[in-house]
Amino acid sequence: MGFAERAAHNEAVFRTINERIDEGAKQHGVEQLLPFHCECAAKGCLEKIELVPADYDRVASHVARFVVVSGHEYPNVETVVERYPSYLVVEKTGDARAEIEREHPRPRHRATKGSPRD
Ligand SMILES: [Zn+2]
Repeated sequence: MGFAERAAHNEAVFRTINERIDEGAKQHGVEQLLPFHCECAAKGCLEKIELVPADYDRVASHVARFVVVSGHEYPNVETVVERYPSYLVVEKTGDARAEIEREHPRPRHRATKGSPRD
């Protein structure tokens, strides 16, 4: 597995966990800061980022955008699109992005059911 593929895979795993946190928060009307996982490409990164669910939701609505701790960005597979004091928003580029778009790990992006894969 190449770096771009592994990066996409790692991030998809943490995205799934974060999505559950986000979904749970929405169900219970939680609006305070919650510890989301850093979605960077580093294997074994266990850093947390405090975000309100609405902010996480906004980032996660873009399939190729992820929240990472400042300094955990990988310029060869992603571009920093937003900078905040406690975290960055990165957008995947090139092979890593292609991998994400191929995998579509997130339910909200499975828009059309039964559509043929290209
Ligand atoms: Zn990280």
